[in-house]
Amino acid sequence: MIAYLERFVPETDSESKDDDVSTLCKALDLQGSIDCGPTDDVASKDFGGMHSIKPLAFIRPAGTDDVAKLVKSASRSSNLTVAARGNGHSINGQAMADRGLVIDMRSLEDHFQLIRIDGLVYADVSGGALWEDVLKWSVSEFGLAPRSWTDYLSLTVGGTLSNGGVSGQAFRYGPQTSNVTELEVVTGKGETFVCSEAENSELFFGALGGLGQFGIITRARVVLQQAPDMVRWIRLVYSEFEDFTRDAEFLVTQKDGDSFDYVEGFAFVNSDNPLTGRPTVPLDSDQVFDPNYLPPNAGAVLYCLELARHHRNTAHPSTVDTAVNELLSGLGFDRRFKFELDVSYVEFLLRVKRAEEHAKASGIWDAPHPWLNLFVSKSDVVDFDRTVFKKILKEGIGGPMLIYPLLRSKWDNRTSVVLPEGEIFYLVALLRFTLPHDPKGPSAEKMVAQNREIIQFCINDGLDFKLYFPHYRSQEDWKRHFGNQWSRFVERKARFDPMAILAPGQKIFKRTQ
Ligand code: FAD
Repeated sequence: MIAYLERFVPETDSESKDDDVSTLCKALDLQGSIDCGPTDDVASKDFGGMHSIKPLAFIRPAGTDDVAKLVKSASRSSNLTVAARGNGHSINGQAMADRGLVIDMRSLEDHFQLIRIDGLVYADVSGGALWEDVLKWSVSEFGLAPRSWTDYLSLTVGGTLSNGGVSGQAFRYGPQTSNVTELEVVTGKGETFVCSEAENSELFFGALGGLGQFGIITRARVVLQQAPDMVRWIRLVYSEFEDFTRDAEFLVTQKDGDSFDYVEGFAFVNSDNPLTGRPTVPLDSDQVFDPNYLPPNAGAVLYCLELARHHRNTAHPSTVDTAVNELLSGLGFDRRFKFELDVSYVEFLLRVKRAEEHAKASGIWDAPHPWLNLFVSKSDVVDFDRTVFKKILKEGIGGPMLIYPLLRSKWDNRTSVVLPEGEIFYLVALLRFTLPHDPKGPSAEKMVAQNREIIQFCINDGLDFKLYFPHYRSQEDWKRHFGNQWSRFVERKARFDPMAILAPGQKIFKRTQ
């Protein structure tokens, strides 16, 4: 088998390559299947739509054994790399492998199992499962649900755990990486381990937020809690950034029962643009944003706090109103800009799915997405707003500009994620959409250049920030990104993937022999 793999030297001509790959399929003796050649180009695409890198083969493993066999075989070759592909929702080719093996994690056999230990309940789910399927299964079968989410749920469990996984619940429960207690991981040596805080802990914490560098997550044990029936979903408008951040920070630092169950926010343009302006704020078609109520000194950019409070079907509407009004009573928003809607819990969590359907219909879902995600320290967020939102992005970005606070103490510093200093920091997500039918709109290249300008501003002005879903080309940049955690990251790599076989699309380490 090694001999076959050794033939995969770069630049083999395509005919002999096809022969080799079909030989490889047989030699590997996989339960799953292999696609190669031009018939399957999914593996060379991602949501970002700006990178296209052809793999040698796209492999659909049936289970963990297949994944282990693939990695072990690659480790016996001189040059092959292996990329786990979750749902390919990366922006910059992170799940691609140049003439390497791309593993379709979605095809791992679906595995959903309820586990009870010491009165607590968990879901054991496959690393390739979509969070939306975990939601539907756990709510419909048991009335239970994970505690910490992403905004959009057509992402895989292994894909988000390799990064962090945040949404409006993270201020309370931490990111998704803080809400799993056990993983099954195939390392870069092709060895399979079950790991947790108590067992193989270096691999457990390394893999969480590890950008796929130390192992492929084939199973995760996710903490569950009772799922609510309904959600009161609320949006409040602010014209001053300082008022918006004061209220957001107040809410995320209250005791559990004394706050909302979800706290997010976004900046939007003070215009009637349907993609970036005031029309993006109302929650329902019968709600209207009347700009006449804005204060005369309102600027070009406004802010919206987005909140949710869980409740049960049995709760009387007036009880919900009273609880919500009490929570809102100390906040400094303009009472004429409050938008509310009651939706089911599942509907609330699947809210971006509805946006996806619209975006697919208009073609913008499949056009390039030069997204930029950052964590910015509370100490620098006013500076960030002043230059980035109020100047560089004052005309919007063709999509949402999320900004909401998170708490460092809810993140486990033994994981591979790196964060700014200080307890409170902000997630800033610039979710740019390009308009395929509008040649006058800014191009993806222009948007990428604007992202660079923003990062450069953060560096030049010495802002305390980290990229979330980092994308760098040189190891110097990666060193700077990890800062004093770089040596730990390198040690973990040497221990779990010494030949740098895994996740080559992150461009951190080069394959060695
Ligand atoms: P992929 O893009 O396929 O892979 C990402 C990286 O992880 C690659 O390097 C890959 O090799 C590696 N990888 C994949 N699976 C595994 C595995 N099982 N084991 C080890 N490594 C693996 N993120 C948030 O935190 N919050 C959000 O609210 C949020 N919303 C989003 C909305 C949209 C529309 C999109 C496109 C993305 C969003 N994201 C969000 C970002 C998302 O979490 C990341 O892009 C994530 O990596 C996507 O998961 P995926 O399953 O598509 O992974």
